[in-house]
Amino acid sequence: MSRPTKMVINLAHLRHNFAVAKRCAGKAQVMAVIKANGYGHGAVRIAQALSHQGSTADAFAVASVDEALELRAAGITRRIVLLEGFFDPAELEIIAYERLDIVIHSEQQVQQLLVARFVGELSSRTINVWLKIDTGMQRLGIPAEQAATVQQRLAASDNVGELRLMTHLACADTPEHSANQQQLDVFNQVRKQLPHKLLQSDIETCIANSAALVALPTAMAAKAGDSKILGDWVRPGIMLYGANPLVNEHPIADDLLPVMTLSSRIISTRILKPGDSTGYGKDWIADRPMRAGIVAIGYGDGYPRHAPTGTPVLVEGKPSRLLGRVSMDMLAVDLTDLPEYGEGDSVTLWGEGLPVWEVASHASTIAYELLAGVAERVAVEVLA
Ligand SMILES: *Cc1c(COP(=O)(O)O)cnc(C)c1O
Repeated sequence: MSRPTKMVINLAHLRHNFAVAKRCAGKAQVMAVIKANGYGHGAVRIAQALSHQGSTADAFAVASVDEALELRAAGITRRIVLLEGFFDPAELEIIAYERLDIVIHSEQQVQQLLVARFVGELSSRTINVWLKIDTGMQRLGIPAEQAATVQQRLAASDNVGELRLMTHLACADTPEHSANQQQLDVFNQVRKQLPHKLLQSDIETCIANSAALVALPTAMAAKAGDSKILGDWVRPGIMLYGANPLVNEHPIADDLLPVMTLSSRIISTRILKPGDSTGYGKDWIADRPMRAGIVAIGYGDGYPRHAPTGTPVLVEGKPSRLLGRVSMDMLAVDLTDLPEYGEGDSVTLWGEGLPVWEVASHASTIAYELLAGVAERVAVEVLA
């Protein structure tokens, strides 16, 4: 038998989560965020699953031209948005050729786009732009006070096709945070200041990530799918993969189903006397007679090395916990109260029955990092 470390990707759960996102989105179009290899789930696989009738994303969002090219090469013809736009103006030719949409977030990008010259068969090609406004997150975006001018310059350029307005909220995972309303106020102010020619009510907007999509309408006492709050386009990522995007619980998040289940098997067991340890370092010590199962998964597979003793795992579906330090290829779990289990039995690290954010919070991180960090050597099994 080969190494039993694997992730099972459940595409029925993905489609279910997408339907939840669609329901929250109301009339807004849905841009499925599949950067970082679809948060570790396989970007092509996820894009293909969301290109079928009944679960069709209106667009996909990725972080780079390379990520977009992988999708185009796999036959994904739908709109693809580069969330940070281009990093070098040399990329503009391939962006035009592959008909990729770009986020423009800086004055430098504006200038580089405006002076770009496409030649030959691309000479009349335009690029669709999502102009990102910094409404207070202080990460990417044009300052709100420059938005109207930048908008006008872009609208006047032969290189620019469709033009949309977007922003990103810093605290959407905490819907009651006052920063959300402040950022929305700045964004609405920007929309009002747009030159009239661009009929401010007509310019499409894009604001909400998963957390905003799930929780902002209720937090702002609006209806689900209210386009004033969510924008004309929404950008869910993490919720599609079944993880709660919010800091706290939420009924809509309870409805999401895990897409990735990471598991392996016990390959050895150890009887521990009080004072014994397992694995490296001996910084965890058994305080009574115990039994440990050694599992074939470690930080070389993307399981967090800093997950402490006590981090939850499931042994054949039964709750147990991590013991001692995580090694590169192995870790130990507690079998003291599970005497019937041993070599060959299955251990779930996260997914079905064990929410990834619960594991993440024990390891002082977030679901995003664990999902996106699963290593390439982990085998993949797809449930269609
Ligand atoms: C990653 C990303 C998203 C998706 O965020 P989730 O929290 O995963 O829903 C949305 N917008 C931007 C700009 C992003 O970078």
